[in-house]
Amino acid sequence: MTLDGGCNYILLKPMDKVQAFEFDGAAAKRGLIDPFGRAISYLRVSVTDRCDFRCVYCMAENMSFLPKAEILTLEEVDRLCSAFVARGVRKLRLTGGEPLVRRGIMTLVNSLSRHLRSRELDELTLTTNGSQLEKYAHDLRAAGIRRINVSLDTLDADKFRAITRWGALDKVLAGIDAAQAAGLKIKINAVALKGVNDDEFPQLLEWAHGRGMDLTLIEVMPLGEIGEGRLDQYLPLSLVRARLAERYRLDDIDYRTGGPARYVRVAETGGRLGFITPLTHNFCESCNRVRVTCTGTLFMCLGQEDAADLRKPLRASEGNDLLYAAIDEAISRKPKGHDFVIDRRHQRPAVARHMSVTGG
Ligand code: SAM
Ligand code: SF4
Repeated sequence: MTLDGGCNYILLKPMDKVQAFEFDGAAAKRGLIDPFGRAISYLRVSVTDRCDFRCVYCMAENMSFLPKAEILTLEEVDRLCSAFVARGVRKLRLTGGEPLVRRGIMTLVNSLSRHLRSRELDELTLTTNGSQLEKYAHDLRAAGIRRINVSLDTLDADKFRAITRWGALDKVLAGIDAAQAAGLKIKINAVALKGVNDDEFPQLLEWAHGRGMDLTLIEVMPLGEIGEGRLDQYLPLSLVRARLAERYRLDDIDYRTGGPARYVRVAETGGRLGFITPLTHNFCESCNRVRVTCTGTLFMCLGQEDAADLRKPLRASEGNDLLYAAIDEAISRKPKGHDFVIDRRHQRPAVARHMSVTGG
């Protein structure tokens, strides 16, 4: 049987061998340090480029997706993740596309959870649009997942449909209920969209904090051709923060989750509000993460085109020497940072790939 539950993927490993991907040797013991002295401790893995939504800032309405044959099997995803864990990655985030629409996803999660039990991983988590959470919340919690990010830009059902094109708000809200009932901590991520949800942040904030959830606002990033101008969508969070500060007391706090968000405590609600500001405030100097796509392409920076193919060394042999060498070589090329700009002169995507390819 394959981790994919016997679907179309090429069978590379019997299931029982997946548990045996433990790596020894000197290479496995070395941590990953980039040319700027940053230790790479966080891997985001896009397990599929497919999604059951078509959010306007993320995808064009008519997306063409990768042929299945190009996509890593779940055994290969497991092996790749485990290689990074052996090289010092302490936090693993599954993302996509929508990670919970990948067939057999729970088999992968259950398999990766062995690294939590062995304490090599501090956290296994995922970012989801919430549409499948009702179905998976309990199993995710049972597999050792403690916190998840759910993306939700509005609490207005019509707006939600307009933003996601295909999504249904009540399904996502039911998913959030199920996740909280299962004991998962939730952070809500909302992309700030000019003229769409910018009147809703106080409501979103009070709703999230009222349910014990953090809220993080994200600036739209210029990734991929989406069929409309970014300038129309882009709302600087410096502006949002200033507006919220007229209504609430926002106290800067040191809280960090290993991601790029800067947090404040909202005095009136007692909850945390995060800002991810790749455009108005660049956070690259503390970047500890890399991203791998569902085809095994490693991106050392979300905002740059440079990438390394890890599928080839992964498939070239059963041992991991070639894979480690490719990872080392790639990390030695990790750039200092990205240079996103959205203004009247820069309305083209900074990089051609969509966020759903590299994962958020
Ligand atoms: N489908 C899952 C979801 O929506 O949570 C996981 C993948 S999605 C690409 C991850 C995050 O990226 C989401 O919070 C989404 O809102 C965000 N995102 C997508 N495109 C973006 C863009 N162009 N700029 C900023 N954030 C974006
Ligand atoms: Fe799908 Fe997430 Fe992209 Fe929306 S943001 S289209 S839910 S991958």
